[in-house]
Amino acid sequence: MSDPLAVIWERADAGEPCFSGDEVAAWSDGLVERFADAGLVYQVENATSVVCNACAEGHVEDVTFIESPRRSPVRAYIHCPEHGRVRVPLDRLRQWEVDFGGIASATARALELAGDIEEVVPGRVWFLGKATVAALSRELFLARGLTWQDAAEVLGKSTRLNAAKSALVLVAGEVPPEDIWNGDAPPMVALKTVATWNEMGLSVDRGHLEALLTTGRKKTPPVPLVSFPTPAGTTWPEVRFVVTDAALRVEARGKRKDYTFQEAGFEERRKKDAPDRLWALLKMFGTHGGILPFKAVDEKTRTNLKQYVSDLRQRLAALLPGIEGECISYAKDESAYRTAFGISSERTLQFPTPSGASWTDVSIAPHDDTGVRIAVTANETFSASSYAEDEEDGGDVHRWEAAEREGTVERTYDLRTLGLADDRNRPNRVGQALLAVLAGKGTVQRKADDKGMLELCGVLSKLMGIDGSPFDFAELEEKWVALFDAEKDL
Ligand SMILES: [Zn+2]
Repeated sequence: MSDPLAVIWERADAGEPCFSGDEVAAWSDGLVERFADAGLVYQVENATSVVCNACAEGHVEDVTFIESPRRSPVRAYIHCPEHGRVRVPLDRLRQWEVDFGGIASATARALELAGDIEEVVPGRVWFLGKATVAALSRELFLARGLTWQDAAEVLGKSTRLNAAKSALVLVAGEVPPEDIWNGDAPPMVALKTVATWNEMGLSVDRGHLEALLTTGRKKTPPVPLVSFPTPAGTTWPEVRFVVTDAALRVEARGKRKDYTFQEAGFEERRKKDAPDRLWALLKMFGTHGGILPFKAVDEKTRTNLKQYVSDLRQRLAALLPGIEGECISYAKDESAYRTAFGISSERTLQFPTPSGASWTDVSIAPHDDTGVRIAVTANETFSASSYAEDEEDGGDVHRWEAAEREGTVERTYDLRTLGLADDRNRPNRVGQALLAVLAGKGTVQRKADDKGMLELCGVLSKLMGIDGSPFDFAELEEKWVALFDAEKDL
């Protein structure tokens, strides 16, 4: 079957990219309406003249409208020398124009580009957004009329396009010769080669686009195959990742996408179908709620870790194009890497509790509106860390916590990271129970079978790795009393 979009690409370079009622009548049923719904064309004013189809002359005549008798529907006629007054069905007069702004939006949507669309040169050049395509973070543009006389001039005043470090120009009509560019031509791809029409509207064959741009390239570094449609102006603190063993969920400003580790660019290159060491590192950030300390690692590991974190920064910046600033920073005072984004793991979060610690060594206090601060004060030197990473590539990491065996270990978590709030930070039953305990300075009046409290016991025990309930229940008064310190102002 022929490509329904072909009619649009063929008309894209026309001075007046219009379709007459007669042309549209030859398309499949309802196609023009579906194009209009998808924003690719819009109906313009009816034609005032039309070709005579009563005779073989093909003469064009002005249309006369008659409303007679009064209040009867308008009828249209033309005059034919051979046939006299010829009735014109009103459908023949309808006209549509290609909507390039709509094509820009549909393309940006189809490619899930990051940022907002901007018309760079009216009616000719549009900035579509950013994406990582074929191993490069690119700025994508749509252009039209590049085969016209004024194309070089139009490109010359496309400031944003000329300023782009790595532009990719999608062309609605024909791809022009490269010499219309003043300087190196960016890659240009005709939309007709990558765009397809499905029932949902316009889609873009991303694999084909990658292939077109990858040709001739040597080994490419591992990069995301996808990029998150990051809303313009998003900051790293507005981003949240949820990592599982093989998938990554990305959320920012109400948008949410799930990617496999391969899609997100974390596939081990030597060993297919396995995630690489950066994935292990990302997961560790997840299980630690965004903070990775490494006081005690040896010099060699320290150097590697710095490199891994630096690689991870680049990988994440490619996955979410267009966000300013560093997504992971090194906090000197805590000797730890800290993520600017929120991150949690589906694997249970583990507090780095020194072994041998009991609930009386633990303090929990509210922190900001949506979080808690937990501290464990160790009064003796503990023999070993109570938990271990089981990451293949995480051999180095076993030691990262080692230095924290002495003194006070402190962490801040938001309720979401602890699994105690939904994705809009609204506390769930367990989160509400914890907040009630903290508000009551460790004491809360609830029944012995209170579900929120019972679940909270499990959550805290798992998080802290401390056996036994963190609460006593006073039967007579029906009160839950925390064994940990909920009064200390941390
Ligand atoms: Zn005629």
